[in-house]
Amino acid sequence: MILFDFHFQNYFKPPQTTANDFKQKKMDLQFYKNQASLKQKEHKKFLESLKRKSPKNLDYLVQETHDEVFEEIDCLQCANCCKTTGPLFTEKDIERISKHLKMKISDFEAKFLRTDEDNDKVLQHLPCWFLNEDNTCSIYEVRPKACREFPHTDRKKIYQINHLTIKNTLICPAAFEFVEKIQKNLQRK
Ligand code: SF4
Ligand code: SF4
Repeated sequence: MILFDFHFQNYFKPPQTTANDFKQKKMDLQFYKNQASLKQKEHKKFLESLKRKSPKNLDYLVQETHDEVFEEIDCLQCANCCKTTGPLFTEKDIERISKHLKMKISDFEAKFLRTDEDNDKVLQHLPCWFLNEDNTCSIYEVRPKACREFPHTDRKKIYQINHLTIKNTLICPAAFEFVEKIQKNLQRK
């Protein structure tokens, strides 16, 4: 019986909440999408207010908030951008990535890309072909500029891309957290 108790205590301990669990919870993509949908109006109003009257130190605050967000958000637990939207490829991106893959530009384009309704070159299929199972990028060093810059939350004069930021909050937990956090950081200053 004592032996059983020993095993019971060791194998049936109630789960402990750890910092890691908290991070995992924060990557509940459905939760983020719901929150972002609920807050669309509020976020839009806030971002528009930045356009009308932006504080002098806005670019600094944006960079500070962006850094704070990415200290907490682990993109390797997410990869939602690579799975659901994918980047557009500039000519320079195509040249660089084809060279890296030792492919002819024409073969690379035929295999991976299509031209969309805005005449941009985008991926034929999603999730992105270059996304590994562990959410790492197999062409990380040479990835498209759009991937390097997404979700654009360290942009100068961020109010110039309000329409994009709002859209990105629906797919990107970091973009959502950024808008939430910068409102608080602005109040603090
Ligand atoms: S940039 Fe946003 S959507 Fe992409 S992996 Fe990071 S948190 Fe997820
Ligand atoms: S190229 Fe890499 S970073 Fe860009 S969408 Fe594909 S997997 Fe993600």
